[in-house]
Amino acid sequence: YQAKEGGGSVAAYDSSKDAASTDQLALLAELREALAADDQLVLALQPAVDLATGAPTGVEALIRWRHPRRGWLGPGDFIRPVENSEQLGTFTRYVLDKALTVAAEWARAGLDVPISVNLSARSLLDPRLPAEIGEALRRHQVPPHRLVLEITETVVMSELEVIDEVLATLRSMGVQLAVDDFGTGFSSLAFVTRIAVDELKVDRSFVIRMADSPEAAAIVRATVGLAHELGLRVVAEGVETAEQRLALAELGCTAAQGYHFFKPMPADKISAVLGSLVDTSQANVVPLRADG
Ligand code: C2E
Ligand code: MG
Ligand code: MG
Ligand code: MG
Repeated sequence: YQAKEGGGSVAAYDSSKDAASTDQLALLAELREALAADDQLVLALQPAVDLATGAPTGVEALIRWRHPRRGWLGPGDFIRPVENSEQLGTFTRYVLDKALTVAAEWARAGLDVPISVNLSARSLLDPRLPAEIGEALRRHQVPPHRLVLEITETVVMSELEVIDEVLATLRSMGVQLAVDDFGTGFSSLAFVTRIAVDELKVDRSFVIRMADSPEAAAIVRATVGLAHELGLRVVAEGVETAEQRLALAELGCTAAQGYHFFKPMPADKISAVLGSLVDTSQANVVPLRADG
């Protein structure tokens, strides 16, 4: 076989890459079926909690794919190819629709908890997105402030103007914005000065290293301080231990998410958990102490 430049199907010198792209094409075809059949893509839901009271501050929707042949797939197994395909718009609308269905149930049950949805930066290049989200919010009768859109700033460098405008429109509609994985990108600080956001999510990598790395601890402290100065919420991601929880509280962080509190769970489990969290936090007048 002759390696073809920019090559497609006969590049024998790199059969692994070839196999991978063939596999990605198959995966994308299967995703098209999954979106149409509406029975394979599900949201796992993970609450974030207030570190002082234990009350839920929000719930993040994380996509899972119950693939008929490949088994359970996580976003790491398929998001990249979807982002680079023409199915991104359909996929994004699908996830938003599922999340708003859940948010509408909570609203009917009297649970005042926002739902967070992860958006691929590329989906923000579509100027129709705000109108579509507005339509979906009205259809589900969900107040805009109950929806938080999580954006990863690392991928937001290109085509800034379109993205800024889309985000500004969404925020003017009352939708909340969060910067996901804060501190990992080159543009973290520039991002918050350019776009008005409501929440910063401290990346898990800093939470993990906090105990042994003064630099990681300093970044957490600085992020918490920045959020405080700007009047933003701050949520630490990936908290797995009681030690991390205490260290975060000592650094002034007010909310956290992670296996230490809850793993992502199926939609049919979340209402009961949220109901009990809301009850507990109302009864719990004395806040849990960090040294406690
Ligand atoms: P993320 O938004 O930063 O989400 C946090 C990830 O950490 C999730 O992985 C979550 O399951 C995991 N996690 C939560 N707590 C802990 C913990 O205590 N320890 C550890 N080790 N991990 C924890 P997941 O679900 O595999 O998602 C990975 C990434 O995929 C997300 O990162 C997000 O960027 C992206 N993603 C998830 N759902 C969607 C979606 O619907 N659309 C798009 N575009 N991206 C999504
Ligand atoms: Mg996220
Ligand atoms: Mg994150
Ligand atoms: Mg992260």
